[in-house]
Amino acid sequence: MLYALAIHGGAGAIRRAEITPDQEAALRAGLNEALDFGLTLLAAGRSALDAVEAAVVALENNPLFNAGRGAVFNDEGFIELEAAVMDGTTRAAGTVTGVRRARNPVKLARAVMEHTPHVTLGFAAADAFAEKMNLELVEPSYFYTQKRWDALQGELQRMREGGSPDTASEQTKHGTVGAVALDSHGRLAAATSTGGRTAKMAGRIGDTPVIGAGTWADELVAVSGTGHGEMFIRCAAAHELASRVRYTGQPLSDAADEVVHGQLLELGGSGGLIAVDWRGNVAMPFNCEGMYRAAVDAAGSRTVAIYR
Ligand code: ASP
Repeated sequence: MLYALAIHGGAGAIRRAEITPDQEAALRAGLNEALDFGLTLLAAGRSALDAVEAAVVALENNPLFNAGRGAVFNDEGFIELEAAVMDGTTRAAGTVTGVRRARNPVKLARAVMEHTPHVTLGFAAADAFAEKMNLELVEPSYFYTQKRWDALQGELQRMREGGSPDTASEQTKHGTVGAVALDSHGRLAAATSTGGRTAKMAGRIGDTPVIGAGTWADELVAVSGTGHGEMFIRCAAAHELASRVRYTGQPLSDAADEVVHGQLLELGGSGGLIAVDWRGNVAMPFNCEGMYRAAVDAAGSRTVAIYR
């Protein structure tokens, strides 16, 4: 196979001891569906960029994952979405933050990349741009799920009782979706989309829309991260992985492991990432209990997994 695709539905999986067979089946079905959307495009010779966008759109539309519909709430009870895309061949990138109305933030990020001279657009201006680009807008209630609302109430209560945001459960802290791909023309691309962290401060910007932190693609690797965003930013995690491959010649899996189990952990950052290189190797390390993930590498081997 001359192409490869990896996706994630976020670190901060439901705890292994608590997940029900039905939940696990639904999560796996969501991963398989998103993977297949991307693979169909790659098999037809379409670009890595199209494939990562299609996979992320499927995950944004699935309320089980923390992106688009089903995203988490900030501390004021609003959903503020973020997304990024990067094209490894041209290094073109587009990101959005503070999105409240665009149904698929990843499409909006791509529109920023392709139709503006900028990389990042935020808040009301981002939604206004979505309207201008004729992208689908929805009422904020479209994104709402009871499960995320209850998680916010629980987290606010925990903080009122003196808990710190850093000691929140992994499920509360984490969640994001992403995709990385190598296409049959040798091009790489990455896309990431998230609601961020439950009870984040309104206006908080995480790693997803920060190019080089939660999202990166060049001509050697494509990376999408999930986890404690502040730490991904502070060690430029995605770019750090790319630099290791570029300057040390480290194999992808070693570089990915060192970022996730080394630099990130040294900062106290939990999470994981998915990465693909120009040969179609795939790495999906994480340093927490689970990370929803799936991939088909260039050798055609398919993985769908949640825990170790
Ligand atoms: N990285 C995301 C953020 O900090 C959350 C996550 O992936 O767990 O916004």
